[in-house]
Amino acid sequence: MKQALMVFLVMFTAQAFSQPCGTKSFNDYAYDIHSTDRPYPEVVDPGTPSSLDEAGQPPSDAIVLFDGSDLSQWLTRDGEPADWKVGNGYIECVPGKSTIYSKQSFGDCQLHIEWATPAQVEGEGQGRGNSGVYLMGLYEVQVLDSYQNTTYPDGQAAALYGQYPPEVNASRQPGVWQTYDIIFHRPRFSPTGEVIKPATITVLHNGVLVQDHVQLTGPTMNRLRLDYYAHDSRLPISLQNHRNPVRFRNIWVRDLEKDKEQARTSTVRPDASPDIAAMAGTFQNPDNPNDRIVLAVKEGQLFVREMTSRDIALHPQSGSSFYAFEDQLQINIRTNREGKVSGLRVFQRGKMHSYDKVEQ
Ligand code: MG
Repeated sequence: MKQALMVFLVMFTAQAFSQPCGTKSFNDYAYDIHSTDRPYPEVVDPGTPSSLDEAGQPPSDAIVLFDGSDLSQWLTRDGEPADWKVGNGYIECVPGKSTIYSKQSFGDCQLHIEWATPAQVEGEGQGRGNSGVYLMGLYEVQVLDSYQNTTYPDGQAAALYGQYPPEVNASRQPGVWQTYDIIFHRPRFSPTGEVIKPATITVLHNGVLVQDHVQLTGPTMNRLRLDYYAHDSRLPISLQNHRNPVRFRNIWVRDLEKDKEQARTSTVRPDASPDIAAMAGTFQNPDNPNDRIVLAVKEGQLFVREMTSRDIALHPQSGSSFYAFEDQLQINIRTNREGKVSGLRVFQRGKMHSYDKVEQ
């Protein structure tokens, strides 16, 4: 009997911990079949779908990030009010302005967003109607004019950039409204920062399934496969400025996190108060004392010195991770048990280098 109980417990535990995010757990089947004791699902008005001409209505439990009127739910990279163009029911990326970030932060979510690349076609490949929808500001579903426009498959519209091409190319013509319906489950990390579960994502492009619950290999980036690093469980959604005037409309999110109230009241910004002064200093490669990196703070921003002949501005993605998008560079700050900065890891061009902080 004892042995049978042990076997059951082992099986139960294995099952409880092996459930992928977003699937039912063992406890959901603890009711008798057809039991009316089981909690009834909340009633949600599903809204209306969009037509090509007109945006639809979001479901009643969605958090609306853009309803056609203003950019009040969006910020620039520096936390200022977003300043893309607001047109008649749409927003349009303005070359030279910042990528924009949702004021609210999200983890697991269902995201609906519509986009249109310029009707007047200019450029080719990656230069034609390029933008991007970033879950957590880190995981890009590519936006691109992929209608009779060839580029590398893992960079075309609806690709998880640099990782997975879409199953099919369901693109509409330039200038025509297109939809993404995205179901995203954030990665889970252990308290010590190891990946317990990678992020998963499902994407429907114009209603066509193009990404079927695929596992992301880490944050997406141009020419660089990044490893996961432990980040916050809620981060802003961002829309990429790739210097093309791509339009967006009808943007809404359904929060799939259990603790919805916390997600609703969270206003974490991409640059949420990391103590960058504590990160400034000299860092040394333990295998090569001549290989050093200096981090400095200038006008409230963290910079890298001595990696090249110029300073490189670092943009925070979480409390401990920084990107320099132009340089395809990621830096993760390491801290010791007392929370003091002890070193950093540099990811660039597919390579990782580790540095220890030099005590001064
Ligand atoms: Mg892009």
